[in-house]
Amino acid sequence: MSVPIIREPAALRAMTAGWRRAGEAIGVVPTMGALHDGHLSLVAAAKQRADRVIVTIFVNPKQFNNPDDLKNYPRTEEEDARKLERFGVDAIWAPEGDIMYPPGFSTNVSVAGLTDVLCGAYRPGHFDGVATVVTKLFRQTAADFAFFGEKDFQQLQVVRRLSRDLDLGVEVVGCPTIREIDGLAMSSRNLLLSDRARVKAPRLHEVMEEIAAGLAAGRPMPELVPPALLALEKADFLKVDYLELRSCNTLALLESPREPARLFAAAYLAGVRLIDNIDIPVRG
Ligand code: AMP
Repeated sequence: MSVPIIREPAALRAMTAGWRRAGEAIGVVPTMGALHDGHLSLVAAAKQRADRVIVTIFVNPKQFNNPDDLKNYPRTEEEDARKLERFGVDAIWAPEGDIMYPPGFSTNVSVAGLTDVLCGAYRPGHFDGVATVVTKLFRQTAADFAFFGEKDFQQLQVVRRLSRDLDLGVEVVGCPTIREIDGLAMSSRNLLLSDRARVKAPRLHEVMEEIAAGLAAGRPMPELVPPALLALEKADFLKVDYLELRSCNTLALLESPREPARLFAAAYLAGVRLIDNIDIPVRG
């Protein structure tokens, strides 16, 4: 059955009010569209946990720090709606830009600390844009649960903190990263890779796994990073924003995994910025 696409806040409110009156729990899956199996795994998790599921599709201008990136971002709404049919999604919330941000919009939600590092350091304003739109999406959808991918681990932690700090009453559920067979983390941005670049892209994850093996053998990051950067350069990742081990909870920098940790990377391949992160088991 086709999924209703809702563009007016009043229509969405009427729908969610009915569900809440009936005591049904609402799950929301925020996305920017160009849906792939990573997004769909969040939808499947939401269907298991909530009685009603809303998928939001909104390419949020506030979280793009680069106008070309916003302009080139893939938009495939019709196909997205078709992909969601077989999941029994109850509604797609896809407001226009001026509905989300009416003229005079002047409020900003900012999460301190967690956003100073990693992507926050390289994409000024990005996490304020995410935090602002997520706050609005949580309110608009009256959600009880929200599903986010570990693919964007820093975002997941920022949204968890935001929901707690502002008493939004939304339980934020993290879902594992879904990968292509060759290890590349699925991402809407992968559509922007040329065939040649696509062949090289899995090298990022491979190099991260090589670092993980080194950490498991007791070698510290300062020893493991230089050869990893060389390997990435050889694979045409000409600019690496970061390749860092950090605490899962605080995102503080670590040399070795003495507490729950993740390895984070962001690098440019043929002009496309790819990010990835993997879990690193605690050692010693
Ligand atoms: P986006 O459309 O890129 O803003 O992503 C929407 C949601 O899907 C975010 O919570 C992402 O973390 C999640 N997501 C994107 N790619 C993946 C993936 N490969 N595996 C799991 N979740 C993902």
